[in-house]
Amino acid sequence: MKKIIVQKYGGTSVENIKKMKNIVNRVIKLYDEGHSIVLVISAMGKTTDHLVEMAKAITENPDKRELDMLISTGEQVSVSLISIIFKSLGYDSISLTGYQAGIVTSSDYNKGKIADIDISKIKKYLQEKKIVIVAGFQGITENGDITTLGRGGSDTTAVALAAKLQSICEIYTDVDGIYAIDPKKYKNAQLLSEISYEEMMELSNLGAKVMEMRSVEMGKIFNVPIHIGNSVTGIIGTIIKDEDQLMEKKIITGLATEHNVAMVTISDVLYQSGDIYKIFNLLSEGEINIDMISQTAPIDGKINVSLSTPSLDVDSLKSVLKDYHTHKLYVDENMTKISVVGIGMIDQSGVASKLFNIFDNLGIHFKQVTTSEISISFIVNNEDSYSLIEEIAKAFNLSNN
Ligand code: ADP
Ligand code: ASP
Ligand code: MG
Repeated sequence: MKKIIVQKYGGTSVENIKKMKNIVNRVIKLYDEGHSIVLVISAMGKTTDHLVEMAKAITENPDKRELDMLISTGEQVSVSLISIIFKSLGYDSISLTGYQAGIVTSSDYNKGKIADIDISKIKKYLQEKKIVIVAGFQGITENGDITTLGRGGSDTTAVALAAKLQSICEIYTDVDGIYAIDPKKYKNAQLLSEISYEEMMELSNLGAKVMEMRSVEMGKIFNVPIHIGNSVTGIIGTIIKDEDQLMEKKIITGLATEHNVAMVTISDVLYQSGDIYKIFNLLSEGEINIDMISQTAPIDGKINVSLSTPSLDVDSLKSVLKDYHTHKLYVDENMTKISVVGIGMIDQSGVASKLFNIFDNLGIHFKQVTTSEISISFIVNNEDSYSLIEEIAKAFNLSNN
């Protein structure tokens, strides 16, 4: 049966013309079989990073609207080059910006949310047998201003288009699919043939940036199975799908890590809601990202509050709290957050004790622990993270051997 297929290619997959040509040749085979093709393309290689750096060399806080004008240009370069390749080979294609593709977003610059997609133009081009090439990561507000969707946002463009076109959705990247652990950090990681939307969202949120979290959420809401594969070979390694359709529910499906985390402890905080509010209000005004929060039991009317934050935010945190002299501040930088994720945790107990046993055997302490329904996260010293990943992978069958 002839199908509409949306394929997305990420930055590393289109970092040079040779890689683009390889993709174009594979797409031509599908097109020649009679399928309708919509491509969503990211900016070449590290282009977006370089554009952000240029703006930040001028000012630490570039105007958000202008930043979107700037960083949306990366995708415009890659879609036009790919279309030029198709046309040079005699194939009819058309490159489109987010605006031309009908992608309307909220007016939150740098993190726009797709409000709707008017797919009439894309459909018209597909009927004219054109290969449609859409710039990922961007859209337009109702007022006609260009927005971007947040880093990694081309995934969201692809899933949203697939939902709207009721098509197949394929995301091609520089690895074979979703692994139990980032294969660049742990080379024996197992490739997962399937994973639920919930687990993938949790892994993305906890540091596995292989898929942008909102794209997975969109797949779940609109019931779009997401196929992840290798952009060089074209082989699909993983399908992200509904939990009910999983062949097997594992207790632990994957592990995500976040490096460069700092643990901050504020001691001698008065045990009054007003005092705690003051601290967190200052942190919020300073736009400090806060992740895990815990507090000790009150002793003599005082508590210690601990929180984790990206190391990058530590200087701002110190300066925001510097006028607040009544407390002492302890900062541990160079920490890693390790999270294990699995839908089977909902109805099976014993995961925490198995993990604590691993910590005990290795003689490693964690600084902070939190749980959700399908995950447990620990903060540990960077240097302890490697042996922990190795042992957790062995204990929960996340590795190939
Ligand atoms: P793209 O440019 O194609 O969007 P990304 O860099 O955003 O690619 O995502 C792919 C990268 O995600 C891989 O190179 C890999 O290092 C990383 N990654 C992190 N966690 C995982 C995981 N669990 N499975 C696969 N890749 C992962
Ligand atoms: N080019 C954008 C980024 O680097 C969007 C994407 O690649 O998905 O974040
Ligand atoms: Mg990406």
